[in-house]
Amino acid sequence: MPLYEYQCTACGARTEIFVRRPTDDVRVPPCPSGAGEAHRMVRVVSVFARHLTLKDKIAEAEAKWGKEVDAAMGPPPDVGKYARRYEQLAKDLPPRRE
Ligand SMILES: [Zn+2]
Repeated sequence: MPLYEYQCTACGARTEIFVRRPTDDVRVPPCPSGAGEAHRMVRVVSVFARHLTLKDKIAEAEAKWGKEVDAAMGPPPDVGKYARRYEQLAKDLPPRRE
């Protein structure tokens, strides 16, 4: 069921209408501000009408936010540093009593 989105050319208010079949005659909805005929509505491409697969959505989000997420997460932890520190600390332990 297609979703048509309309935007007012005068005030920018948006409204959506559902259409049963794409071939149906679509009556242009009035401006939601209630201004009547003075505000002309035009159809806009609805973002919700886009059909993306999950893979597409992830790729899009990655392209848009990936760098910011990486920056927020910081560099990956240096596992080797912790391993070396652990070895150093283990060396300083007193010998195990049997
Ligand atoms: Zn309007």
